[in-house]
Amino acid sequence: MARVIPGGWAFKPLLITVIIAFGAAVVDSTSLSKETPTTVADDLLKTVPLIDGHNDWPDAMFDFASYKLEQLDLYNWPTTQTDITRLRQGQVGAQFWAVYTSCTTQYSDAVRACLDQVDVIHRFVAKYPEAFELVTTADGIVSAFNNSRVGSLIGLEGGHCIDSSLATLRMFYDLGARYMTLTHNCDTPWAENNKRDNTNSSVIGLTDFGKDVIREMNRLGMLIDLAHVSKATMVAALQTSVAPVIFSHSCAYALCAHVRNVQNDVLNMTKANGGIVMVNFYPYFVTCSEFATLGDVADHIDYIKNYIGVDYVGIGGDFNGIEVTPVGLEDSSKYPDLIGYLRTNRGWTDDELRKLAGENLLRVLRTVEQVSLDLSATTTPLENRLTGTDLGNTTCRSITT
Ligand SMILES: [Zn+2]
Repeated sequence: MARVIPGGWAFKPLLITVIIAFGAAVVDSTSLSKETPTTVADDLLKTVPLIDGHNDWPDAMFDFASYKLEQLDLYNWPTTQTDITRLRQGQVGAQFWAVYTSCTTQYSDAVRACLDQVDVIHRFVAKYPEAFELVTTADGIVSAFNNSRVGSLIGLEGGHCIDSSLATLRMFYDLGARYMTLTHNCDTPWAENNKRDNTNSSVIGLTDFGKDVIREMNRLGMLIDLAHVSKATMVAALQTSVAPVIFSHSCAYALCAHVRNVQNDVLNMTKANGGIVMVNFYPYFVTCSEFATLGDVADHIDYIKNYIGVDYVGIGGDFNGIEVTPVGLEDSSKYPDLIGYLRTNRGWTDDELRKLAGENLLRVLRTVEQVSLDLSATTTPLENRLTGTDLGNTTCRSITT
């Protein structure tokens, strides 16, 4: 009879079984962590903060809860396009939260309305400190990203927020505002809005005071946002600004001829200026219809990259400011799908994707900060004031001098 000894052949079947089982386990674990474009993008977005240029969540806090945060669970808020859970799924590193008030508040309570939204941004960031960090600089964005918090920046969406006052502009800067869109869909007394391009009635773009607003924003270190302005205003601002500008949520006009989008000659000027166009997801700006897909949005990103270069394009989804979304980009959780799609279907390299996701905006913001440092050393706050009829509607004013 055969004596079974350790190491003898009698053990071989067991050993083979173990090897087979181990091999199967390896195969299984590989298939469990299957690489998809989205999981690859998830990994890429661990190396760079994804920075979105525009989200109207603060306005949703007004619409749904009159700014009463106690009524809201920001981890789970399915009636909006954003919540903390989806921001994390979407690997959002930093978000410009829009301060938006309707044009109907101009010449009335616009400043108060904008202050209300600045306040709610400060408050929701403070209420969920494990999720958000208020930031005002490029270094701050990187630091919040390293702390696994959504760097939260404030952008004023519409020059009517400052009521034609450089002093008010400076105070919003002190409260953390780091961009101002020069207009929303209405003129201010000093800047013309995009709707004028529908009627070719944009005659001045920016007044002399409007150019002073640009100069003061350069001096302060506030990004000049040209989403929503007329083409003449874009051109005047690009000719006046000594720092890079942004389009926080706009698409390419060549693909959808909407006045909210950026025309080719302005794209060229934006490249020369060192600025950035952050692509909007709104179907009406993407395909000029109510329907669009993730691929259609990718077309705009690709177009800008191919036309002026990968250094001048970013992402500004406009979530919570848009009532319809592209198929595949329905909410703040979807950014990795877009990044993965560009990588797999459009041939973007990881270095290019890092620029799109955040490095371009960081470069723009750092340059704006440096220009501000230089100007602050040689200039003082501008003291110009609009007076009298130059203020536009004076019905509700007591201060006109
Ligand atoms: Zn907008």
